[in-house]
Amino acid sequence: MKEQNYLDSLVGVFGHPAAENPGVVIQEAAFRALGLNLWRFLTIDVDPDKLEDAIKGLKAFKMRGINCTIPHKINVIPYLDELSESARLIGAVNTIVNNDGKLFGENTDGKGFMESLQQNGVDPKGKKIVILGAGGAARAVSVELSLAGAGSITIVNRPEDAALAKSLMELLNKIMKSNSFVTWDHTYQVPADTDILVNATPIGLYPNVDEIPNIDLNTILPSMFVQDVIPNPAITPFLRAAEARGARWNTGTGMLINQAAINIELWTGLKPDKKVMLKALQEALS
Ligand code: NDP
Repeated sequence: MKEQNYLDSLVGVFGHPAAENPGVVIQEAAFRALGLNLWRFLTIDVDPDKLEDAIKGLKAFKMRGINCTIPHKINVIPYLDELSESARLIGAVNTIVNNDGKLFGENTDGKGFMESLQQNGVDPKGKKIVILGAGGAARAVSVELSLAGAGSITIVNRPEDAALAKSLMELLNKIMKSNSFVTWDHTYQVPADTDILVNATPIGLYPNVDEIPNIDLNTILPSMFVQDVIPNPAITPFLRAAEARGARWNTGTGMLINQAAINIELWTGLKPDKKVMLKALQEALS
């Protein structure tokens, strides 16, 4: 007799807001392609003061795991039993794995970013890198770049949140030597010897699709590789400007797909088909 099993395997995302998060589209496409027909990805809006309740709910429902996005990536850490090395260094968690009630926190944002660079034939070893922004994405990306042997990292950030940038610089200085910080209170001139230029701010993210970082666009050179972390829209005005100046460039889509694929592997033990995931995302955003 055919086995009867209707028990859902639950994963999802905690965010606030959460409605525009496209994780469900990517993840459920991957589950279907893997034949994981009982796996469900839930998009859950969790108010900041309800995070503890949400974690209790996750355990009560025996969810296999959850992604955390703004504003929960840092605040969730006290509720976890164990952290990966990257998550500990970055100080933020975007993926939780529930191992029979014990919660393991990982940060796959930077790993997804690194894979995306690799997919474009870019090796950060020894390279001079400029990162715009000092928030969660910048932190994940800069920690992974420095662990991968980047030559130097310059963080460019507005003066408003000096403590955030200071803590990032202290962290990077522990991992590597050649770091610098630029207070972003002017039109930034990208140094001519920059190899990789990264936008790790939300500038250009939907719905502010016409925004562009305050840099002198004429200082982007054909020798540079320009990377955006924005996944929606894929091609931002920043990337269009890079293309117009002859630089190679890459969207934030690869980073998003790669980190989602790592999450699926952590939860299910199976490698998903990234092409299926990308197609589902492109259809959802078109
Ligand atoms: P945070 O809020 O943690 O950090 C945002 C950073 O950008 C801060 O340093 C902030 O500076 C800076 N910033 C924001 N607006 C401006 C502006 N107008 N001018 C200059 N600087 C600005 O956000 P995250 O780091 O978590 O996310 C940043 C982006 O990365 C988001 O758009 C998100 O979608 C994207 N992302 C993409 C992923 C992917 O897989 N492709 C994964 C994770 C994130 P200040 O300190 O002054 O506020």
